[in-house]
Amino acid sequence: MAIHQALRDNFPSLLSQTLNKAPFPLYSQSAKENDGQRLQQAVAVIPIETDAPTRQCLIQITDVSIAVARERLLREQALVLRSQTFSDGLTGIANRRHFDVNIEKELRRAKRTNGAMSLLMIDIDYFKAYNDHYGHQRGDDCLIQVAAALSSVLHRPADLVARYGGEEFAVILPENRADSACLIAETMRQKVEAMAIEHEQSKNPAKIVTVSIGVAMRIPEHHLETSQLIGAADRALYEAKRLGRNQIVLHGEQ
Ligand code: GH3
Ligand code: MG
Ligand code: MG
Repeated sequence: MAIHQALRDNFPSLLSQTLNKAPFPLYSQSAKENDGQRLQQAVAVIPIETDAPTRQCLIQITDVSIAVARERLLREQALVLRSQTFSDGLTGIANRRHFDVNIEKELRRAKRTNGAMSLLMIDIDYFKAYNDHYGHQRGDDCLIQVAAALSSVLHRPADLVARYGGEEFAVILPENRADSACLIAETMRQKVEAMAIEHEQSKNPAKIVTVSIGVAMRIPEHHLETSQLIGAADRALYEAKRLGRNQIVLHGEQ
């Protein structure tokens, strides 16, 4: 078609690289280099003016294998970099990977300094019903709003709020004793409640979005491992759900 256009209409054209990666059976001299694959080609068809009675055109083929390989490499690197980022794509707060690295670091520090450290596990109440009723898009908006509300409560640079999974968040509070951790948890619960995001399907009488929070802490006397701390916060969260949701429960006090 390109040749037709050049000969009939005197029209130059460039073959689409995405549609025609290697239209001609051309190979690099070193077969090893390209595993017997055709060269990646950029093809231009250009009509030329001559005195000859027949019309003629020039087909110019450029080897673009190196550029294509470079582009593929860049794309692969971008993918790797994205997977290594530390922020959650939807809410912009720390992601699970950031949380995993941070909790290990803070627990090591707490052990070294014989200090305390608290962990909050936060879960949105009746969120499946929210999604089912308002749709996934509104569900995502709700997650963004809740993440922002939780973040707004933290002021110390070492405190970290992360998206732990779907509609669950985790907060690491280094050097926090139970009373201040519970205060922060309660403030977070109230902040979410105060936004009064409509949730018709919630069993909460106010019909708004709420969160339940489990609080656990490492005290110097106990030699807790990461999984034990997370397990303790998880059990406290489960208890907060069982007791009716929209509340905080401190592990060990339920
Ligand atoms: P509970 O009060 O016991 O926590 O009930 P729940 O409905 O919140 O809990 P469940 O674990 O059954 O449902 C979680 C729902 O969260 C399932 C899914 O619809 C929703 N969800 C998880 N991740 C995302 C997300 O990234 N975006 C949106 N929109 N929804 C999500
Ligand atoms: Mg959940
Ligand atoms: Mg939930």
